[in-house]
Amino acid sequence: MPFSQLGLFSSLVRGAQALGYTQPTPIQARAIPAVLAGRDVIASAQTGTGKTAAFALPVLNRLGPHRPGSPRVLVLEPTRELAVQVETAFRELGRFTDLKTLVLHGGVPPGPQRNALRTGADIVVSTTGRLREFLDLKLIRLDSVGVLILDEVDRMLDMGFIDDVKAIVKLCPPARQTLLFSATVPPKLEDIARFALRDPERIAIARAQAVTATINHAIHTVSEDQKFDLLLALLQRADFKSVIVFSRTRHGADRIAHHLRIANHAVAVMHAERSQAQRVAALAGFKSGKQGILVATDIAARGLDVAGVSHVINYDVPQNPEDYVHRIGRTGRAQVTGDALMLATPEEAGAVHAIEKFIGQSIPRIPLEGFAYAGGSPPEVDSSKPGAGGPRRPGRQRLGAGGQQQGEPGRHQSRAPGRPAHGGGHPTYHSKGKPGAHWRRRS
Ligand code: AMP
Repeated sequence: MPFSQLGLFSSLVRGAQALGYTQPTPIQARAIPAVLAGRDVIASAQTGTGKTAAFALPVLNRLGPHRPGSPRVLVLEPTRELAVQVETAFRELGRFTDLKTLVLHGGVPPGPQRNALRTGADIVVSTTGRLREFLDLKLIRLDSVGVLILDEVDRMLDMGFIDDVKAIVKLCPPARQTLLFSATVPPKLEDIARFALRDPERIAIARAQAVTATINHAIHTVSEDQKFDLLLALLQRADFKSVIVFSRTRHGADRIAHHLRIANHAVAVMHAERSQAQRVAALAGFKSGKQGILVATDIAARGLDVAGVSHVINYDVPQNPEDYVHRIGRTGRAQVTGDALMLATPEEAGAVHAIEKFIGQSIPRIPLEGFAYAGGSPPEVDSSKPGAGGPRRPGRQRLGAGGQQQGEPGRHQSRAPGRPAHGGGHPTYHSKGKPGAHWRRRS
């Protein structure tokens, strides 16, 4: 069914077409009519499914022309980047309307946001922190909010924002429409749903489909000491265009980035300890291709929409299986195939087991041909039993082999254990091939 048959104004159909959308995605086909009908909605859908337009288009449709004064739509987002991204989507989809949008988030001086609020916006997209700050200062009123959108609610739960969310919900008029979007539906979500929604329509877009359809998964098993060398070897072999390397910790992300730079890779870094300006610059550099590698913590895993990420590399096995789904969701978006690789040590077998159970499939172990594995072959990561491999030892992560100290530049380059055994030639990259085929050299 084309967009024009969903009951949207032609200005919004044109807005969607201007972004290259021809057919609604499944979440859009289901959510748009429900939102247009004024229903509350709980939708569980991964990012990458088109969920932003699934709420933005019908909400823009319901607003009519611009009205000065307090916002009539409030969207809450867990991170600054998501707030910016979602406000951009509203603005672009609504480009043929006169509706005004505004994004509020921390990490930047409040002055310009305060001034913009005075001019008035129909739609405000905000993180919870900055919104509460502005509410406390009486800089914004929520008594005109007719539509409240709680986006990425599972992430807000994880980040401990739920009390803030509840406090904000209480300040919105009871007679409103509420839309709740979440990639996953943990039990706690039902609690906030009961609190904030009335007789919601439930829409679920199958998780298994979302996870497996366009992504090739592979695990490279390796000892902790050789993890970074394996990462370098992978990066040397494949035709990587745009890679996100996920690290569990901020410190780990900084160290990986530091050592990748030493190995002459152009790297952007994103984690919560970086300033807002640094985060914006990192994302812009990665999106423009100036840096082909983004090293990030899970802050970058949720929702961020970067076109054409060819590979996601999990440098650490995520402890929470849902984080795996979010991380790999950065690739394989919008029906383009992508590769999700995970470097796993025997100690991480338990976490690997949890992920395989969660996504309902086992992930193939792929040895990297020609890599000088300590002991001659990749270690076994037996995830057949829950808890296999025992708990992960935090802080044990080391970069480089053989007790190499941090900050010893050059050793990775000179040792280059992952370099192909014979020189010349280029790695073959098949985006649709079997996992692991990507790393085989053309002979
Ligand atoms: P989201 O899940 O909202 O983050 O969207 C993921 C990506 O899909 C974004 O780049 C959107 O611009 C894109 N997208 C959303 N809806 C459609 C559609 N109907 N057709 C093609 N691309 C879309």
